[in-house]
Formats: sequence, structure tokens, C-alpha cells
Amino acid sequence: MSERKVRVRFAPSPTGPLHIGGVRTALYNYLFARQHGGELVFRIEDTDSHRYVPGAEEYILESFKWLGIKFDEGVSFGGNHGPYRQSERREIYREYVDILLSSGKAYVAFDTPEELEAKRKEINNFQYDSHTRMQMRNSLTLSKEEVDQLMDDGQQYVVRFKVESGMDVHVDDMIRGDVCIKSDILDDKVLYKSADELPTYHLANIVDDHLMEISHVIRGEEWLPSAPLHVLLYRAFGWEDTMPRFAHLPLLLKPEGKGKLSKRDGDRLGFPVFPLEWEDPKTEEISSGFRESGYFPEAVINFLALLGWNPGTEQELFTLDELVQVFDITKCSRSGAKFDYQKGIWFNHEYILKKSDAEIAKQFAPIVANNGVDATMERVQTVVHLMKDRVNFVQELWPLCSFFFIAPTEYDEKTVKKRWKDYSGQQMAELSKVLGDIEDFSIEGQEPIVMKWVEDKGYKLGDVMNAFRLALVGIGKGPGMFDISSFLGKEETLRRLHTAIEILG
Ligand code: GLU
Repeated sequence: MSERKVRVRFAPSPTGPLHIGGVRTALYNYLFARQHGGELVFRIEDTDSHRYVPGAEEYILESFKWLGIKFDEGVSFGGNHGPYRQSERREIYREYVDILLSSGKAYVAFDTPEELEAKRKEINNFQYDSHTRMQMRNSLTLSKEEVDQLMDDGQQYVVRFKVESGMDVHVDDMIRGDVCIKSDILDDKVLYKSADELPTYHLANIVDDHLMEISHVIRGEEWLPSAPLHVLLYRAFGWEDTMPRFAHLPLLLKPEGKGKLSKRDGDRLGFPVFPLEWEDPKTEEISSGFRESGYFPEAVINFLALLGWNPGTEQELFTLDELVQVFDITKCSRSGAKFDYQKGIWFNHEYILKKSDAEIAKQFAPIVANNGVDATMERVQTVVHLMKDRVNFVQELWPLCSFFFIAPTEYDEKTVKKRWKDYSGQQMAELSKVLGDIEDFSIEGQEPIVMKWVEDKGYKLGDVMNAFRLALVGIGKGPGMFDISSFLGKEETLRRLHTAIEILG
């Protein structure tokens, strides 16, 4: 068993945009596969045709492309275990349904929805199981002739799994350890429906995991209640020896309060819960995405990796490759992980700092151009260098940086009141003369000369710099004054000084 090649899968149902919890599941599968030299399979579980949403599959694939999570096999990737879309595997499932039927591990049931409803009314907490199945209309209670007749008549039926009562079912979970339940709490799950000639999720999932030689099933906690049934199905097929090991990941919880993270939390608190923007094909409602909100894929990966797992050290910043090295599925938490979106923003900020100025400038340049400014890449990069530590997202740069490219046309009233003194006009006039005489307008060229002038005159440095800033920037904030003036150059600096003197007096 320990020799077994690691093969894991991410198996979404294309029922809409991929939730961020699903992204984390895929990420953990990816990390696990990579660190064991294994393979990651991408399977589409689309046996529930009522819930199928067009565009969802493409959306999921595009999300992983953006995030840099690569699959080895599966829908759109190819491989030797295909087809990888469950809707294309009907004949395969039928074969395995028949195996269970002929071995007596499953049976055919003809109960109509009305009959089931009547039973539910008759029996409190009715469950179709070992205690009730003999009261129902199925191949265990009807004669062979009756069953054949009903089938020949084209009566609709389902195939149910015959769960033996009185057994302990053990699920060996890599995170939760031995999870044991009594088989009596399980119902005789429907495995197949004649109406659409398709298996249900449970059968398709097990058959595919087996045929695709999946060694480990890593998935969300919401699937834990299904795991005992899955274990019983493996046994019914005689596949115990190759049964995958399970890992059920902790739920993602609301940032505040109790319960599962939902799209509504995102709408209410202003953060995305989907990797990419999504437009609902029916309602045309748009849901925001991490990509469109300006997150770096590396930041999203890093953020998600630490939701439900931690390395046991102080380190928080990890590249995908580093995560492959240190990730440990057995160290995932058993309880839910709060979706601390503020932390996600923090990660994005850290990645802005981590990335080179050139890389950020490449993303910022189009924004500068869109604002009608024609600036060289070098100048954009200089601005990025001066300002990037002040923002969490690239798109936050423009409002903070526009003054580098566009002269202020008005001055912040409060700052003027506080910082533009009676004598500021006079001082700025003098300063513009001092600056006008400077040959070398670099930071190093200006700073000592201006400082000496301030000292000789006995002016307060704060007074001078505050007024200088107001004149060049229009507000009371920004990077170092000589950074700004040297960026603007002598001509523009003097022009802004004169305008301010004229307007503010
Ligand atoms: N199709 C299921 C889902 O959408 C997969 C569950 C599993 O991984 O077994 O999450």
C-alpha cells in the first residue's frame, strides 16, 4: 500500500463559479501531489443535469490557469484514464451498477414520489433502510416476475445500495483520524436513476476514483458524512485494498459570527469569494473576483494555503514551490477556518513589496496612460518605487500618485489653513530663487543647498517643507520633498511654486 503512486483529483461539479473554498481544496490537492511526486487529475462531475450551468467548466479552468495550479491529467489535459467528464462515462457506470445488482449488494426500487411521501407521513423520520425496505416496492419485496414486468413496462426505477445494519463503519481520515459511525444511521442511498440513465454522485465518484487509480481523496468537510457510504461501496465492489485514504478539509467560516462563508458575506463586507469575476448566465448578476479586484494570484494562493493549515513557524510568506516543500496535510486543523479577508489584503500588500518595481510599473503604466498621461516606463517605475509601500492594490496607486504627472489645480483647504502661513508666500518665493540657481537638480544636488539656506535664514524647517509640499502636491501628504522635486525637474517645480504663490498669496 505504501508503495502506491500518489494520484489525487479535484472533481468539481459545474454548477456555477468555483467558490474560494473549492480553490483551496484544489490547492491542497496540488501541493500534496507535487510533494509526493504524484499526479493531479481534473474530473468534471456533471451527472446532475438539472444543476449544470453553462460556462462553469471553462470558468474553473481559467481560474486555475490564472492561479498557476497545474493539472497532469483530466478534462482539457488528456491522459490514459479518460473520459474525465462523468456525463461521457454512462456505459461504465451501468456496468458497475449491474455488478452490485447481481451480487445482491444493491436492489431495484419502484416507489413513486407519492408513495415515498405517504411513507414519510406515516413514519416519523422515515429512512429507506434495513428497517423499512421490506415495506416498500422493490426487488426485495416483489417477485422476479413482477420486477421483470415492471421493467418491461418501462416503469421508472432507481437502484439503491443495500446497507447492512449493525456494523461499525470506519473512515481513516488523515486529518481527523479514525472516524467511526454505525451503519444503521445510513439510508439505502440511490446509486442510479433510470429516468436519466445516470448514476448519482456517490456511485460515479467511487467508480471513477477506483478506475482512475486515485490514492488519496482530499476534499471539503461537507463530504465527510458521505465517506462511510463510500467506504461501504468500496467494500461492496471488493476494492478495499486500493481504497483511497481520505482527508476532509475544515470548512471556511464567515469572517465574523458563526457559520459557513457565503457569497452574501462577501457582498456585505466587500470582498470576493470567487477567484474570477462571474456573470450568472440566467440572472446576469455579476459577482466580483479576486483577479478583477486586483489581487495577485501569488497572494491568493498564499492566503488560502494558510486557511486551515499552518507551518508551525512564524513564517507567513510562501511561494507555491515553498508550500510544496512544507505543506503537511496531517497538520490541517479539524475545526473551521475563519475567512479573514483582511489578511488576504495584507498578503496582497506584502506581494506588492516583494515584487520588483519594474513588475508593478508594468501593471500601473496602463492606468497612467488611461488617465491621459504620456509617461516613460522609467518615470512610472520611479513613482512606483516611491509609493508602492503605501498601497495594497496596484489600482490604489493612481489617486495617490497623480500629482507626479499632473500639477495640482487646487489646494486642500484644511492643509492650507494649517500650513500656509502669512509668510509662506515670501518663503516660497525665496525658495524658488534658491532652487532656480541649482545646476544639479538631483536629490543630492538640492538637499544640502536648501538646508543651508533654511539654516542661514533661521527659518523653521517644518514651515518651509509644509508649504513646499502643499505647492507641489496640493495636499499635506506624500513621499520626501526632494524625491518629488527631483522627479518633477526644475522647470515644473518652479512652475508649481509660482502657481501656489499666485493662488495662495
Ligand atoms: N463533485 C463534488 C464537488 O463538487 C466532489 C466531491 C469529492 O471530491 O468527492 O465538490
